[in-house]
Amino acid sequence: MEHGAIIKHNPKKASFTGDWRYMHPEVDKEKCIGCGNCVPFCPEASIELKEYKKGEKPKADIDYDYCKGCGVCSTVCPVKAIIMRKK
Ligand code: SF4
Ligand code: SF4
Repeated sequence: MEHGAIIKHNPKKASFTGDWRYMHPEVDKEKCIGCGNCVPFCPEASIELKEYKKGEKPKADIDYDYCKGCGVCSTVCPVKAIIMRKK
């Protein structure tokens, strides 16, 4: 039986899928409750939670080098803190 190969993902070698973007997501930092729901849904793994102010809950931060503008994050956000806008 042939075994498959598992190739470790190297983000430094990944192509910049942000070039495909027609729409881009904007996070309303006032609305974002830092629940992290959007993070695992992003197909490009381009959202992480970032601490903007010391002592405050981290909020969603989007890496536009890789975000392709699919809008999934906007759909799954429970408080509608991500708005899709034209590029
Ligand atoms: S628009 Fe799509 S690719 Fe961009 S951050 Fe949201 S889920 Fe990820
Ligand atoms: S799902 Fe919405 S509220 Fe939760 S971290 Fe993402 S942007 Fe913020």
